Amino acid sequence: MNAIIRPPKWSDWRWQLRNMHRPGGEDLSDQESQFEVGVTPYFWDLVQRTGGVDGPLGRQVVPSELERSVAPFEHADPLGEDPHRVAPGLVRKYPDRVLLLVTDTCASYCRYCTRSRWVAGHTEPLGSDALAAAIDWIKAHPEIRDVLVSGGDPLLLSNRRLSKLLDQLNEIDHLRLIRIGSRVPVFAPMRVDEALCEALRPRKIPLFMNVHINHHAELTEASRQALRSLGAAGISLGGQTVLLRGVNDDIDSLRETMYRMLQCGVRPYYLFHCDPVRGSAHLRTSVDKGLELMKELVGHVSGMAVPKYCIDLKGAGKVPLWPDYVVDADEQSWTFRGYGGVVQRYPR
Ligand SMILES: *Cc1c(COP(=O)(O)O)cnc(C)c1O
Repeated sequence: MNAIIRPPKWSDWRWQLRNMHRPGGEDLSDQESQFEVGVTPYFWDLVQRTGGVDGPLGRQVVPSELERSVAPFEHADPLGEDPHRVAPGLVRKYPDRVLLLVTDTCASYCRYCTRSRWVAGHTEPLGSDALAAAIDWIKAHPEIRDVLVSGGDPLLLSNRRLSKLLDQLNEIDHLRLIRIGSRVPVFAPMRVDEALCEALRPRKIPLFMNVHINHHAELTEASRQALRSLGAAGISLGGQTVLLRGVNDDIDSLRETMYRMLQCGVRPYYLFHCDPVRGSAHLRTSVDKGLELMKELVGHVSGMAVPKYCIDLKGAGKVPLWPDYVVDADEQSWTFRGYGGVVQRYPR
């Protein structure tokens, strides 16, 4: 085994953020690249041990020449979030839930980022007045049952700010659940310490965390430890995976990723088709490929390991896609094909 010499501050997450590596991007000027560049030394070390820049982890964070080309269907705001802004940092597309974007900073930057138009200084970070206005909006809308705190990565807020935000949300009686979306357990697992778990500890309202995990190699011992700590603090963990070409678009990688997530106490929730964000075409698979992979999961692996495959439409919400098991239907019966190919009639 290679001995890795790590600086003494390696396990200090603020040091990891201050010392972000900027791989590759020298010949890609800021105007040309659609995406922010930055990788924590922790994750960069992992990239080098898993196939380098063309490996499944490298492809996610190292800039490519191909980012310069913008495919016809691609858009800076592929989900059409901007027109759905109802208050500062608050996006509402569904009747009963809102997305609260609390920071524009991440612990490393993905080459397919849906919010690349927004992260890392392209917009004003949410100040305390703006956050107060967003919380007031939620208070004034009793039909809202679910707040998704995202960004950027909310776990990069200080413990004090996170704790205050969760206190404020917990005072809103009509909320049934609170969710946090994060990739910190993958990019900077040292951020998850006792003090953070204490700040996040669920109050009255149940707290869920959806962790963005794309490949089983991301689940190092440090990541597993971080996920175990969050679970032990009473937070229910879900997984969000983006289907990416050359990363997880083969059944062996995808299956292994789903099982390894479960082993960390993370229940796979969504498998997202890669959004058509500007400059990301080389990382996208076809929808047909996504459905083919789902067909190889459903029935063949534990149902707990099967996520929902979703396409996020521009301004029109998520569309779940599931392989088709209906062969025929008439007035008396349905005809289905089971996961293994057996065809059977079933009364209506
Ligand atoms: C994804 C998303 C949600 C949450 O959708 P669920 O299907 O409930 O997980 C809510 N608001 C916005 C704007 C979203 O993009």
